[in-house]
Amino acid sequence: MFRHVKKLQYTVRVEKPNPGLANLLLEQFGGPQGELAAACRYFTQGLGDDDPGRKDMLMDIATEELSHLEIIGSLVGMLNKGAKGQLAEGTEEEGEIYRNITGAGNDSHLTSLLYGGGPPLTNSAGVPWTAAYVDTIGEVTADLRSNIAAEARAKILYERLINMTDDVGVKDALGFLMTREVAHQISFEKALYSIRNNFPPGKLPPIEQYANVYYNMSAGEGDMRGSWNSDENFEFVADPAPAVDGGDGSASVTLPSDQATDLANMASRTASDPGLNPTTGAELGSTLGEANQIKDKPRS
Ligand code: MN
Ligand code: MN
Repeated sequence: MFRHVKKLQYTVRVEKPNPGLANLLLEQFGGPQGELAAACRYFTQGLGDDDPGRKDMLMDIATEELSHLEIIGSLVGMLNKGAKGQLAEGTEEEGEIYRNITGAGNDSHLTSLLYGGGPPLTNSAGVPWTAAYVDTIGEVTADLRSNIAAEARAKILYERLINMTDDVGVKDALGFLMTREVAHQISFEKALYSIRNNFPPGKLPPIEQYANVYYNMSAGEGDMRGSWNSDENFEFVADPAPAVDGGDGSASVTLPSDQATDLANMASRTASDPGLNPTTGAELGSTLGEANQIKDKPRS
């Protein structure tokens, strides 16, 4: 059950209107690393989880993300308040309104002009929100790792947004949102490592002969060795050749005879003739001199 509380999770004090900044903040409202994506990610994972502790944590964090959505949406709303009234009432000269909403060379048509000052479910470039931002796969050792990465990305976007505004109140609220993503990252890491068998994800063991091999697939100057490919951690194959399984590296399939006949007939019907040099439409329309035109001439 959800109930709405009329107060925000964190107090929002915006110094002054700034439609351009409102636009940029939409990245964390309806963007891929935004609060709606985070809320939907943890909410749907929580609904499907059978572990009581993890389910509880996912529901707590999902609901907090909705509270963050409310905060970032309120920031957008406050930053657009000035332009909203002016646009709705048409109280200023056209040029004045345009100068106000695009003041610092920003592009604020999204939030102020198209959506009348309210936060739309788009990213900062106007791309509509999509459930494709949620990459849940229903295996907790994979999903928690993805959640950790999602929190890291959200933290970075908040950091960039903080770095580009001098509005003390906006900075303050964004600092809270950024910090909470760090706290969530810690919870998800703890939840992941509190599963004793968390690696590799899933139940099937890796195939032993390939599991600890490092293939040096990028040849040339600049090969580097570190713990990621060290002899201590890996069997390092300096010059990998096909095929690593000991086979001949070609692809094959065994077909029933009727399918094999159809396939052979199709291959024969669509075969290329290396002896032809046909004139093409592009050559017929070419502006190159007649002397350069390629004529039909069979190669011997
Ligand atoms: Mn959040
Ligand atoms: Mn979070």
